[in-house]
Amino acid sequence: MDFRPPRCPYVECSQHTAPRPRFWTRHGSYHPRCRRRPVPRFRCRFCDRTFSRQTFRHDYRDRRPDRNTKLFAALVSSTGLRQAARQLGLGGGAVQRKFRKLARTCRWLHRNLCRELPADRTFVLDEEETFEKASIRPLTLPVVIDKDTYFVVATMAGPIRRLAPPGTARRARQEREEAASGRRRDRSRVCVRATLRALAGRLGDSSLTLLSDEKASYGTLATEVFGTSVRHIATSSRLPRTAFNPLFPINLTLAMSRDNCGRLRRDSWLVTEKRRCLQLHMHLFTAYRNYVRRRRNHDRAVDTPAVLLGLLTRPLELEEVLAWRQDWGPRSIHPTASTGAIAVA
Ligand SMILES: [Zn+2]
Repeated sequence: MDFRPPRCPYVECSQHTAPRPRFWTRHGSYHPRCRRRPVPRFRCRFCDRTFSRQTFRHDYRDRRPDRNTKLFAALVSSTGLRQAARQLGLGGGAVQRKFRKLARTCRWLHRNLCRELPADRTFVLDEEETFEKASIRPLTLPVVIDKDTYFVVATMAGPIRRLAPPGTARRARQEREEAASGRRRDRSRVCVRATLRALAGRLGDSSLTLLSDEKASYGTLATEVFGTSVRHIATSSRLPRTAFNPLFPINLTLAMSRDNCGRLRRDSWLVTEKRRCLQLHMHLFTAYRNYVRRRRNHDRAVDTPAVLLGLLTRPLELEEVLAWRQDWGPRSIHPTASTGAIAVA
């Protein structure tokens, strides 16, 4: 527990990007009400400003830091925000703010730990459908995973336009809504392209195989994003959905996401109010799925997707996901470094 500041937390200081050994001196400590032990303070010898261990942590300036891990656990165990607020004794606004901050850290953590993917692997793409607020406003959620390890590479929520047959009550509702607030946008292609680009950014020029169902746009988008380095294989969605189906890994991952994220459940009261919140929730799911949870229930507990893919040597605890702030990119402290000594890259 002997924390040593790895860099000056002020990004404009020279000791932030290229810290010298002992650029800091000790500067006492303080006793926050929410902790039993004092928090050490430091002073930068170059910019003369002071900071503490807290400056490097995810829960910097949080009011109830003890609730963060419990909230994270609840939100990846299909609990809704309101129920989590009741369980943890927090207000609705506090839970919303914590949720957004957790999601930002999870998003950065995934970016930092998955900067590059190994070459010549097979990835699987599919879209999950859900809706925002009412079922006449459908959403799409493309997800790309690594086929063998189930590692979730990228997700992107967006609106789609799906009109009911003319003459039905549902169609009439949709037409009233579009007359009032404009034609609903269909961003399916944009979202699929964004997930494929997120994959391409981690592959460099190396080749890959991409599996998907037979939706016509997948082939064209794959060629547009990867050029000649992709081998795209489309599988008929009429094949039985068994473990022998080539799309089984993505079907199972989407089923897990519905199990872990209450807002994706079908026939449930718990729905997404805004699509942005669905995307935030997916950042939590991605961090939990890749770095904390084992690949499948019959795998060893240490075999998380990130370990199987060689990105980490062991699973992360929930506390470690939310330990250090990750928004300094590769200069952030690595989630497994308890003394703060190791940077992400
Ligand atoms: Zn400094």
